[in-house]
Amino acid sequence: MKKILLIAEHEGGTLKRASLELAGKARAFAGVDGEVTALLFGDAEGCAAQLGGVGVDRAFVAVAADPDRLTGETAAPFVAELVGRLSVDAIVATETPLGHDALARLAACLDTGMATACLDGAFTEEGFSGRRSQYGGNVVVSFALTGTPIVATFRPNAFPVPETTGSLCTVDRIETAPRETRASVAEVIETEAGLQDLAEADRIVAGGRPVGSVEGFGLLAGLAEAIGAQVGASRAAVDAGSISHDHQVGQTGRVVAPKLYIACGISGSIQHIAGIRSAKTVVAINSDPEAPIFSKADFGIVGDLFAVVPALVSILEQRSTNNE
Ligand code: FAD
Repeated sequence: MKKILLIAEHEGGTLKRASLELAGKARAFAGVDGEVTALLFGDAEGCAAQLGGVGVDRAFVAVAADPDRLTGETAAPFVAELVGRLSVDAIVATETPLGHDALARLAACLDTGMATACLDGAFTEEGFSGRRSQYGGNVVVSFALTGTPIVATFRPNAFPVPETTGSLCTVDRIETAPRETRASVAEVIETEAGLQDLAEADRIVAGGRPVGSVEGFGLLAGLAEAIGAQVGASRAAVDAGSISHDHQVGQTGRVVAPKLYIACGISGSIQHIAGIRSAKTVVAINSDPEAPIFSKADFGIVGDLFAVVPALVSILEQRSTNNE
């Protein structure tokens, strides 16, 4: 029986999928008789209540904290305030810039151990142990945290989204205003309209340098649409101006964990692979049979992407016509 504090994130009042995944896991950490409390920021009272359907017992909303302008520095005092009030066994968040930054500050204040980018975890006799990826995803290490409370962030897509029961939890407001901080958000640049966070995508069709143009990415978008995927890209494609940085996958882009990742004309540099290590199935389409991506792929197609991708789209269209 444990008491867990979950930092949940939302976008314009819609709970992020990764927070729903972690809410289910937090319930499992707490056990049936334990307690899961969530903390959200900004205008989130409606979606905070919905967390009741995935195992959260009660939620707090720091209403004055604007999620768009929130930094780890502004968020951490709210988390610390609740930790002081609730005496929890664990504070967990998704491995996002906010979750990582806020909880690192909190762990330092509490002088306790922290594990980031965890892939799983469980309470044990000694404390809390689990696995996390390290060195850009090149190794997976086992860790054990023995301090109390434990502080940990978890990778998006590490756990399934629990079915909601539809029940609502009670929501309390935290009226405290954010404190003055040394760093502040100077500008908020909107991501492309309609783009789902790649870290949460189930399927991704990604293109590399040879895709070559915005039109080339239009071709990949056709395949993505046919299979309900998001479009990703290598840094070389982004640097060439073929697509915006919002789509970049890799060490300096998004770390993704889809069920299906189709890499079209991507060589498989270590920096790109660092972003896709948690993908369940990787399909590579590349004209060079020696391309490093093939050693990381579950399925490979040696060929020109400008021939293979339209052929795949045509097969998928044919199939959907036959099923109608
Ligand atoms: P290329 O290396 O040019 O490879 C293109 C591939 O397409 C080749 O394998 C080729 O055989 C194949 N090809 C060519 N024509 C066709 C065709 N018609 N059909 C099918 N296949 C074809 N990169 C990232 O992706 N993400 C990052 O986050 C990232 N961060 C970086 C950080 C640092 C500090 C550094 C130094 C580099 C980083 N890079 C990153 C860049 C990385 O090193 C590579 O340069 C980049 O990933 C290469 O992109 P690419 O595979 O699209 O292009």
